[in-house]
Amino acid sequence: MSSKVAVVTGSNKGIGLQTVRNLCTEFNGTVILTARDVERGENAVSQLKQEGLSPAFHQLDIDDIESIKKFASFIKTQYGGIDVLVNNAAIAFKHDATEPFGVQAEQTLKTNYFSLKNVCDNLYPLLRPHARVVTLSSWCGHLHQIPSLELRKKLSDPNLTEEALDALMLEFIESAKDGSYSEKGWPGSTYVVSKVGASALTRIHHQRFLKDPREDIVINHVHPGYVDTDMTSHKGPLTVVQGAVSSTYAALLPENCTSPKGDMIWHNKEIIDW
Ligand code: NDP
Repeated sequence: MSSKVAVVTGSNKGIGLQTVRNLCTEFNGTVILTARDVERGENAVSQLKQEGLSPAFHQLDIDDIESIKKFASFIKTQYGGIDVLVNNAAIAFKHDATEPFGVQAEQTLKTNYFSLKNVCDNLYPLLRPHARVVTLSSWCGHLHQIPSLELRKKLSDPNLTEEALDALMLEFIESAKDGSYSEKGWPGSTYVVSKVGASALTRIHHQRFLKDPREDIVINHVHPGYVDTDMTSHKGPLTVVQGAVSSTYAALLPENCTSPKGDMIWHNKEIIDW
């Protein structure tokens, strides 16, 4: 099948929904809005249809491996491949959340790091030449958010493997549970660690794509800015339109672009040294 395909995870609201809205007008192909909850997803599709846009819809709960596999199989049979993948879905506990820190660590790392990885593992085989992959990181995902220089060194090691990164993320969860995270050099925010993990993973995938036999697959991670969405309890000063600039830009990088590539892109499209 020849139609190009763009997929945005967690796109029933917020920056993901706006990214779908942008892609519906700027991407030459089918844009698939995905949501873990079918009703919320279909409501979002209806909203865009009222605006004259026509995204497709499919259920996708990134925390559910069966849902990911069903989605991958749907894409394979229906479209044959993926040209744009925007890894947008994520969670963040509120500052006043009452769940113990160890529980927050486990749940945040599950969705924002391990489930992200599962999506990549299952959808990357479907990427076509010239595909663009965008992972929503954050300013919170910048390496400098990690207090320990030793940990920073490990996380930014150009030879870091996925297995070693998994182990670091698991070490953080364990230290969050036994209360030793601070003395081990981790920050007091599970969201920060999950986004640093997502950014480190992006860099590993970048190295992998450089050797991929499929031509010109480019991955970047973006900081969308501090945006007025449910995640920030609407405290962010940027609108979703401003917040979706970096993800849309990275999703639509032209064929054979040389930069940005494996980079962290700021909300104003500048490349930031991770
Ligand atoms: P929102 O909370 O508004 O939206 C998050 C989206 O992710 C929702 O659609 C949510 O679905 C979905 N989601 C959560 N868990 C899952 C899951 N298991 N499977 C599928 N979808 C899921 O967040 P934002 O729009 O603000 O954030 C979008 C991205 O940008 C995130 O990666 C976030 O970390 C990042 N970011 C945001 C910033 C900001 O200021 N807003 C700043 C920096 C980064 P549901 O409606 O079902 O909960």
